[in-house]
Amino acid sequence: MNRKILIIEDEANIQELLRYNLEKNGYIVTISDNGIDGLQKALDQVPDLILLDLMLPGLDGLEVCKRLRMQKATRRVPIFMLTAKSEELDKILGLELGADDYITKPFSIKELIARIRAAMRRSDDESSDAPDKDEKCKIFKARGIEIDGEKFEVRKNNEKITLTLKEFELLKMLVENKGKVLTRDFLLDKIWGYEYMGDTRTVDVHIRHVRQKLNDDEGSGRMIETIRGVGYRFISEGE
Ligand code: CA
Repeated sequence: MNRKILIIEDEANIQELLRYNLEKNGYIVTISDNGIDGLQKALDQVPDLILLDLMLPGLDGLEVCKRLRMQKATRRVPIFMLTAKSEELDKILGLELGADDYITKPFSIKELIARIRAAMRRSDDESSDAPDKDEKCKIFKARGIEIDGEKFEVRKNNEKITLTLKEFELLKMLVENKGKVLTRDFLLDKIWGYEYMGDTRTVDVHIRHVRQKLNDDEGSGRMIETIRGVGYRFISEGE
């Protein structure tokens, strides 16, 4: 089945570059050139992935991202922010608002396609009734946190916590491997599937987000420990 990608981008030459290359790779492409229309198209069509430019007429990319994450239909759709090099601060903010990743312009088409493929593969894995379904049904519990791999639900002391897909996967990976240190590169590879291409700050920002949502404050009761310069660890009971 051909996957749908929505491009929300106002620059005609980038629109065409993306359309040409994505269609060549078998994707069905829809283009919107402003934030308001883009948001509407995303809600109407629920694409498999959204490429979202940061600087847009109407609503900017950050606002579009925030609103997409607030809607049930688009809460889990992978969003890649397209940013210029000079927009360093904004791309971090984009991740804060729920984008899965960012692509810096000018970008390599080869790398972009590889990242899109990886993101699609992940969402395939999550929605399929593959033989490892039993594995996904498992409920992981640790320190008052309950993770339901089938319903994609997280509860802390029986209270539901809303996480984005990447945040969910990250927490699940840490809890499944509780007590062990997981490196940033490992997490980037396993959760984002990039191998050598990603930026490990993506992991840091997502971890920060998970901590905020779990109220995992610094101090003795902290659940997710930072191993400076290495990665993260979910501290198990009784440590
Ligand atoms: Ca723009």
